[in-house]
Amino acid sequence: MNPLESQLDYPLGETLPAPGTVHPLAPGLGWLRMPLPFALDHINLWLLEDQVDGRTGWSAVDCGVATDTTRSAWEQIFAGAMAGQPLVRVIATHCHPDHVGLSDWLCSRFQAPFWATTGEYGFARMMAAALPGVDGTAAIPHFERHGLVDPALREKMGERRSYYPTLVPAVPQAYARMQDGELVQIGARRWRVITGFGHSPEHASLYCADLNVLISGDMVLPRISTNVSVFAVEPEGNPLQLYLDSLAKFSDLPADTLVLPSHGKPFRGLHTRVAQLRAHHTARLAEVMQAAAQPVSAVDIVPIMFRRPLDTHQLSFALGEALAHLHKLWYDGILRRVTGEDGIIRFHLI
Ligand SMILES: [Zn+2]
Repeated sequence: MNPLESQLDYPLGETLPAPGTVHPLAPGLGWLRMPLPFALDHINLWLLEDQVDGRTGWSAVDCGVATDTTRSAWEQIFAGAMAGQPLVRVIATHCHPDHVGLSDWLCSRFQAPFWATTGEYGFARMMAAALPGVDGTAAIPHFERHGLVDPALREKMGERRSYYPTLVPAVPQAYARMQDGELVQIGARRWRVITGFGHSPEHASLYCADLNVLISGDMVLPRISTNVSVFAVEPEGNPLQLYLDSLAKFSDLPADTLVLPSHGKPFRGLHTRVAQLRAHHTARLAEVMQAAAQPVSAVDIVPIMFRRPLDTHQLSFALGEALAHLHKLWYDGILRRVTGEDGIIRFHLI
């Protein structure tokens, strides 16, 4: 446990649900984990007792990626913890593969509706179709403009063209829209939708006042900071500002809210964690500003912000994240942005 984590309270201690099992958190609320084929090796999903159109069963919040391992873990849950009851709704917090990978498989199997915000639903459909601009190769010219000149790395990024469709072979062809502030009735309880930006187009967290539980998705994680990236499809974006603004939406929730994050363990200490995340970005911004005393590209910033070896997957997130910090300082009027004669975009302290 790192020093920041030790400021949080993990009420379940070291408990982790075994694959294919559900750990009860409250009556009608269960926690399950699915494996992920990345350095980040798991995702937490949630099962909520529900009733939709007279059908009694469960709502799933998030799905896991489309791998045989995840499917077989779900099969164990259908037969075991769900005791033959159906999924009556599938809710996605956002469009990333670990969250929507098996959405179509789950919805089709149980004839269950798919719930998401419009922003997330639209992006999931676009990325599952690998449309130009949002497919894996779109990152190459984007990051080239920001200083990526290593041909081997470019080649590796090119191999990621079908990264998303491999993990998300299909997204349901229709959806039910969730909107900010909406109260969604799930079983006997109401959950308030809290949208958040900067990590994904229109991320939905869910808060239940009855339980004092927040399903935070990827917006607030206990161990790692949420990825906030400028991607090719929105090259002028200021996602770090959007993300920091979104964190403020959690400030009116009780300090002792039990937070259910997509990665890591359930914890209490929401306001402490939000303050830590703000401090994290303030420190990164200060480092970036210092480095930008000389003109710097996003590629120049990566080793300053990330002092460890990165694989291709991590490098693309690191580049996006470096750019997010540069863009915030640029939008704040602290850095100027100049395209050099070599075609590379650099940032420099004003
Ligand atoms: Zn995510």
